[in-house]
Amino acid sequence: MIPYGRQDITDADITAVVEVLTSDFLTQGPVVPAFEQAVAKVAQAPYAVAMNSATSALHVACAALGLGPGDSLWTSPISFVASANCALYCGARVDFVDIDPLTGNLCPKALAQKLAKAEDEGNLPKILVPVHLTGLPCDMKPIWELAKTYDIRVIEDASHAIGATYYGQPVGNGAYSDITVFSFHPVKIVTSGEGGVAVTNSDKLAAQMARLRSHGITRDADLMTHAPDGPWYYQQIELGWNYRLTDIQAALGLSQIKRVQEYVTKRNELAKRYDQAFSAISLTPAMRSENTLSAFHLYVIQVDPEQHLRIFTGLRDRGIGVNLHYIPIHLQPYYQQFGFAKGDFPNAETYYSRAISIPMFPTMTHDQQDHVIAAVADLV
Ligand SMILES: *Cc1c(COP(=O)(O)O)cnc(C)c1O
Repeated sequence: MIPYGRQDITDADITAVVEVLTSDFLTQGPVVPAFEQAVAKVAQAPYAVAMNSATSALHVACAALGLGPGDSLWTSPISFVASANCALYCGARVDFVDIDPLTGNLCPKALAQKLAKAEDEGNLPKILVPVHLTGLPCDMKPIWELAKTYDIRVIEDASHAIGATYYGQPVGNGAYSDITVFSFHPVKIVTSGEGGVAVTNSDKLAAQMARLRSHGITRDADLMTHAPDGPWYYQQIELGWNYRLTDIQAALGLSQIKRVQEYVTKRNELAKRYDQAFSAISLTPAMRSENTLSAFHLYVIQVDPEQHLRIFTGLRDRGIGVNLHYIPIHLQPYYQQFGFAKGDFPNAETYYSRAISIPMFPTMTHDQQDHVIAAVADLV
């Protein structure tokens, strides 16, 4: 089976992890900050806070931005459920903004309309979570413009998009958002086994996220209600969680992230090969947009909805590990209790009826890719 995505573990990665295993610290040691600095450097952001998953990082980001009961968060219906669940963890409500069919990403025009309506009705969201689906950056300029106008915070869910650029600038540099979250799950571009990092330009948000990932505890005397009882002293000043990344995981991430540019280049090369092959058979290639470099976490083809199931199962039968990203979140049974129904976000639903993620990973050989292309051509 050729998988739709696969991690690439080198001898250097293994050595880096083994070094931590034989060192003094398995967690809360020096490798987590080193990994944070490496991620911050790639994103060109001053601050990075590592957590045990991007899901945790999204939760902590929402909490640090003050999301709570009575508030709402808007995201894209075409994403992994974690992009929306982070609001529910905070006791807030979730709503969605339909996608732009040309990019698969949250549509700035739909957002503008929905915000105008929400302002009239007095239910503007507190936080917006645009998702860089497949690694293709959302059109952040108009999104950030709207967020400024309506005083809304923005968290970029860049789980797919480390190494991507928007107008030549790296995703995560904070030019158009308050916080950006990356995932380091093994199917993503760079992995730490499990892991997530939140980057930000705000020292205040970074300090608060670091506190929230570790029980809401501080050792900073300035933040305490009274002078420390002694050198052992710490105070819990708010409610946090244990969302820490281990040094074992950080070592893998730190070793891997050195190859991020190489990976993104390789993924773009493979994407170009797919594009060429598919344009020859009049199949819509993966979505692109102006002024962006996609990280190509995924390569998604879109097929006739009538043929979707047949092509999907046909590819699986031919040993090609295709997948579907994503089932619209508003159609998940759990989300039905909030009143969402089929038809609410028609572009997202159309996308769902057509999308197939085909294999895309940096160690994919041209032979493997040719096998995928031949199978797709045969079935389409
Ligand atoms: C993978 C993913 C997440 C969650 O990442 P974890 O690190 O697995 O928690 C969130 N959002 C999107 C878009 C993802 O693809």
